[in-house]
Amino acid sequence: MNDQIRPQPGIMDIALYEGGKAAVAGVTNVIKLSSNENPFGPSDKAKEAFQRSVHQLHRYPNTDHTSLRDAIADTHGLDAARVICGVGSDEIIHFLCQAYAGPKDEVVFTEHGFLMYRISAMAAGATPVEVPERDRTADVDAILKACNRRTKLVFIANPNNPTGTMISAAEVERLAQGLPPQAILVLDGAYAEFVDGYDGGLSLIEKCSNVLMTRTFSKIYGLGGLRIGWGYGPKAIIDVLNRIRGPFNLSNTQLDVAEAAVRDQDYVAKCRAENARLRHWLALALAELGLPSDTSMANFVLARFASVDEAEACDAHLQKQGLIVRRVASYKLPHCLRITVGDESSCRRVAHAIGQFKGVK
Ligand SMILES: *Cc1c(COP(=O)(O)O)cnc(C)c1O
Repeated sequence: MNDQIRPQPGIMDIALYEGGKAAVAGVTNVIKLSSNENPFGPSDKAKEAFQRSVHQLHRYPNTDHTSLRDAIADTHGLDAARVICGVGSDEIIHFLCQAYAGPKDEVVFTEHGFLMYRISAMAAGATPVEVPERDRTADVDAILKACNRRTKLVFIANPNNPTGTMISAAEVERLAQGLPPQAILVLDGAYAEFVDGYDGGLSLIEKCSNVLMTRTFSKIYGLGGLRIGWGYGPKAIIDVLNRIRGPFNLSNTQLDVAEAAVRDQDYVAKCRAENARLRHWLALALAELGLPSDTSMANFVLARFASVDEAEACDAHLQKQGLIVRRVASYKLPHCLRITVGDESSCRRVAHAIGQFKGVK
């Protein structure tokens, strides 16, 4: 062992991120409802683009992502020069921390916020600052109170994972305007497409110089396996992030598939409607079984159990039936299970199995 070889301070304190379980030993035909994936997969147009991309595998990809940025800009009415694409929105989060936060700086996020904010902050050597939520919802006053001269980044996901709750545009604006001048507000819009008519914070970005949003192809677009995300914000910030972005961070395949996917908004609308219908059904079915949940704006429902023991026992029961949901103890919600809204038969199966667990015939 060579104890002279050491990582930067803080790196060894990072707890490894664990993805949603995908298998149960001894059970075949599992239904995975643990990673908020689109049960219908990507659009056919995206799949066709994937097939075509096989002919370009020997070519280096384009480094400026022009074609994908144009498609995103066309679809959402944006300035393509202010779009940055990354290996999932995780990479955009990482760029932000690397570029703006270092030792002695603080990165603020909420109690039940996405684990990647803490990981990326610590990887940059910055100090993670976790702010309490109120009833599993971001609390703007508490966030503002936690900010100071050292605050460089404030992350909130709206809607949030794993709570599914959302704060209003007026509240987000109050947050943006109340931040200290050196802090950037990052609106994580991983689930924005599931909210009918929601712009992900776009109008606020156009109004403020300190707000940026991140978006992903992993959720409603059904492309989590391919790893594509993007960010949109002030030109000055996007210019900084592009300096640390690897020139070939996205492959031809990622670029072409994402472009085809974003141009197929009919498919997105179909998935949004089906998700809303089944989410409503699932939340009601759970409520009838005595399991409350907050109104979810995303593609999952966070079922609240009476105790940690009950949540664990129900999870074990579901696993035996090949139903994999997400335990969210690492999100400080040990008495809850996060259930992704699957297709109709998956929703029925999970509700039925929970009914069995609860002793309902
Ligand atoms: C799933 C998710 C993401 C998406 O991450 P990708 O790297 O784009 O796959 C980002 N933020 C939150 C809150 C999420 O739940």
